[in-house]
Amino acid sequence: MSKKDYYEILGVSKNASNDEIKSNYRKLAIKYHPDKNPDNPETEELFKEAAEAYEVLSDENKRARYDRFGHEGLRGGQDFHQYTNINDIFSSFGDIFGGGRGGSIFDEFFNMGSSRGRQRSSGEHGADMRIRLPLTLEEIAEGVTKTLKIKHYVSCSSCNATGAKAGSSKKSCNTCGGSGELRQVSRSIFGQMVNITSCPTCRGIGEIIVDKCPTCMGESRVQEEERIQVTIPAGVEEGNYIPLRGKGHAGKMGGSTGDLIVIIEEKKHEYFRRDGNDIIFNLKISFPMAALGGEIEVPALFGTTKVKIEPGTQNGAVIKLRDKGLPVLNSYQKGEQVIVVNVYVPQKLNSKEKELLQELAEMENIMPDSKHHKKEKDFLGKIKEAFF
Ligand SMILES: [Zn+2]
Ligand SMILES: [Zn+2]
Repeated sequence: MSKKDYYEILGVSKNASNDEIKSNYRKLAIKYHPDKNPDNPETEELFKEAAEAYEVLSDENKRARYDRFGHEGLRGGQDFHQYTNINDIFSSFGDIFGGGRGGSIFDEFFNMGSSRGRQRSSGEHGADMRIRLPLTLEEIAEGVTKTLKIKHYVSCSSCNATGAKAGSSKKSCNTCGGSGELRQVSRSIFGQMVNITSCPTCRGIGEIIVDKCPTCMGESRVQEEERIQVTIPAGVEEGNYIPLRGKGHAGKMGGSTGDLIVIIEEKKHEYFRRDGNDIIFNLKISFPMAALGGEIEVPALFGTTKVKIEPGTQNGAVIKLRDKGLPVLNSYQKGEQVIVVNVYVPQKLNSKEKELLQELAEMENIMPDSKHHKKEKDFLGKIKEAFF
């Protein structure tokens, strides 16, 4: 629970009207929206904080309790939501963003799936699912559509997600008298406090099933295997994720469905190492090629490409091929293919080769002289220079 002042969080005065509260919350929610600030725990925290503040201040009773007792007045009980899951915020407050059922302002704003604007439903929210999706660099370079096979809970169609056998009735829960809540009044230094908890007998639903649905055994949902298509845009990287709204687990008793979160993984490439949008390739060339120059074929992301080696190329030299790297996400830009040249030193020689090399070693331009021993930028320094 946030300890910050709810009025401060929403930037309104203590006697702000409901409209003011709503309008300020809306602004904050749009500003800190996770789809606008991907992978940013700071804005996510602010987003949750604003939702928490709005939940309290938009409710007359809660606001009165908060005004009187502060945060203590709201502690405990299911009437206070601690937002650990962002989607709960959407299912709770989807309605304030303008949409009703079909779509919300968020959907239009951020081009999200329609389930974000979903209505508050009575049952338990379904859990999100996470699935890792390993991709090759080639798939990342072009973007790809994949079919995922997942096993998740779906609402039971036999009982319409009620958990009750067709034709059977439900009876009101005796423990809570059908309200789904248990209220306990206690006294504390802050005065009289009402503690509200979810009824354990009916799990907060207020009704008890008499005859359970035989398909789902009264659980209101069943496990099912499904194939789901996901389209990955070009240029993603390890750890990026794509949320598929409403493709996670169905909630219990008609509760809203969680999301399926597809987390991108990068498969190791046979030749390339990725550095941002660049791909790095270590090229070995022979000593004669380094000295004489020439042309050599190297692997590219798709097929091969020819590279010119200048005469006198040094070990650690870097050759950059523009636009041969990976695309930048959501852009037409592309990274480079960076070729780091290594001069190959043979480890096995036959007698003819030895003879020729010995002869060569005597020649005037072959031996490094003292000026070559001066400190040069080392190999890593050169690579760094090439990147920054
Ligand atoms: Zn059922
Ligand atoms: Zn109950």
